[in-house]
Amino acid sequence: MTVIELLDKFEEYFGKEYTDAQRAAFVAKLTIFDERDLPRVYSEILEVSKRLPFIAEVFAVGRAWGLIGAAAEERVHHWEPTTCKLCAGEGRVWSVWGLSFDDARGRWMERLEHVMPYSSAEARNYHFLDGEYGRVARCRCEAGDAPTLPHGVPRWPENLEPVRLVR
Ligand SMILES: [Zn+2]
Repeated sequence: MTVIELLDKFEEYFGKEYTDAQRAAFVAKLTIFDERDLPRVYSEILEVSKRLPFIAEVFAVGRAWGLIGAAAEERVHHWEPTTCKLCAGEGRVWSVWGLSFDDARGRWMERLEHVMPYSSAEARNYHFLDGEYGRVARCRCEAGDAPTLPHGVPRWPENLEPVRLVR
């Protein structure tokens, strides 16, 4: 089950709809879950929730079942500046994506809007517009291999699709 499928099932069951901004937030946050665990999240939410669930409730279920943990841990990360255009040496790339519904395809799509080093001033001061969310990735350069970066964080892909279907 994908995150989008999970949200669709919640809407169907509870007879209410998420706003686009709520959907975007779910898509951004729930990447921490393994898709194989989402059916369990769905079934558990039906037992504990009387209305369309918020992210906090989904995370509470995830913690109770031990579905999130190691990947969410943060360790102190030291780094030296480099000339890398993506991460500037910190090994972490932060990207901003925008969610929109493609009427022609009848599917949710996401579009890459900005890329910047994770702890840059630009990233810290960024204000999300409605439907936008951020993602962190390990850079393709050597800095992305640093042992202090959590391994659950995905690599920034070499051939990134700037517009893609949301799963
Ligand atoms: Zn880099």
